[in-house]
Amino acid sequence: HCPSCSAEVQSTARFCDSCGTDLSDLTAAVSQAASESSLPHSSLLDQGRFAPGTLLDERYRVVGLLGRGGMGEVYRADDLKLGQSVALKFLPTEMEQDQVRLNLLLNEVRLARQVSHPNVCRVYDIGQIEGAHFMAMEYVDGEDLASLLRRIGRLPHEKALEISRQICAGIAAAHEQGILHRDLKPANVMVDGRGRVKLTDFGLSGLATRIEGEDARVGTPAYMSPEQLSGREATQSSDIYALGLVLYEIFTGKRAFGGKSIAEIAQAQQQSSLTSLSSLVTDIDETVERVVLRCLEMEPTSRPTSALAVAAALPGGDPLAAALAAGETPSPEMVADAVAPGSVKPLIAIAALGVIIASLVLSFAGSVRDDFY
Ligand code: ADP
Ligand code: MG
Repeated sequence: HCPSCSAEVQSTARFCDSCGTDLSDLTAAVSQAASESSLPHSSLLDQGRFAPGTLLDERYRVVGLLGRGGMGEVYRADDLKLGQSVALKFLPTEMEQDQVRLNLLLNEVRLARQVSHPNVCRVYDIGQIEGAHFMAMEYVDGEDLASLLRRIGRLPHEKALEISRQICAGIAAAHEQGILHRDLKPANVMVDGRGRVKLTDFGLSGLATRIEGEDARVGTPAYMSPEQLSGREATQSSDIYALGLVLYEIFTGKRAFGGKSIAEIAQAQQQSSLTSLSSLVTDIDETVERVVLRCLEMEPTSRPTSALAVAAALPGGDPLAAALAAGETPSPEMVADAVAPGSVKPLIAIAALGVIIASLVLSFAGSVRDDFY
């Protein structure tokens, strides 16, 4: 229990989920009590299914439980084969009975592995231990945004912009591969020790969607778009809506819509009972407020068309930089627009086109060579 607010906390938690109190002393005290006590550790510490030190699949040494979520338990482990830290996400045991769900899971992992972007947590592989499936993924040494916001409140303007741009870049990279997130929320935005964003759980809740057989209605209601709440199909626009809610929280430190049930949240959305950003943060940049409100339009077609457009519309946003950050090849028009108006524009556009054609030719030549050998 948290010493300040006495809310129940996980023994491995660094900060209290309810009041944000630093629990490192408490964690140390619990560990010490555990080592001094003659009782087995498990009676004092919540270690999850696998105790630290357990060797899994003759390859992964469990370091400890990182957390629990909708889909199951997440552990930190050392990959002894490659000498790297990994995160292992175990799926709920109920899933093991259902071949259809497992096939969907394999498909999601297959898709997720196509996304290679610094702002998206890498998915490495899938495995099975003691009859339970798990996903091995990049271990992010940091904190999730939900916990960070609880701890420090809204982020300072520049930091907020930086984090927002990285979130947009990660979403854009996944959308580029045709992958929707469907459950974008602060808890799925990890920030590592160097301030780099890593989005987790891409596509996974899509799997849950189909599992529940409840159409688009899975994930975390507070972060779902109106169309998802009403059971209609999730699209890229639904991710843009969730992005708007996450940005709202980054810049204000407050959740946009309260309400516990799907009905309550849907009602809040419909009545657009959103507290304006400027009434929460008096000196907020108007541009930020405008972008966030556009993401939160009820009608999907009224929202920004892409995560890149959101990044570009944020203060100081540069369409070219946003495209490059998402790993896209900027269009000649975008390159042309990026330079000051004047006679150079067409020239630059032609030059950019030249570069694109040259790189296509080179990569083609490369693949021909690969085939040849
Ligand atoms: P949630 O429903 O909160 O997203 P998850 O099962 O995805 O639950 O994860 C539980 C917790 O484990 C997260 O809140 C996060 O703090 C931690 N976690 C998840 N993935 C990773 C990872 N790749 N690296 C480090 N910690 C992670
Ligand atoms: Mg998660």
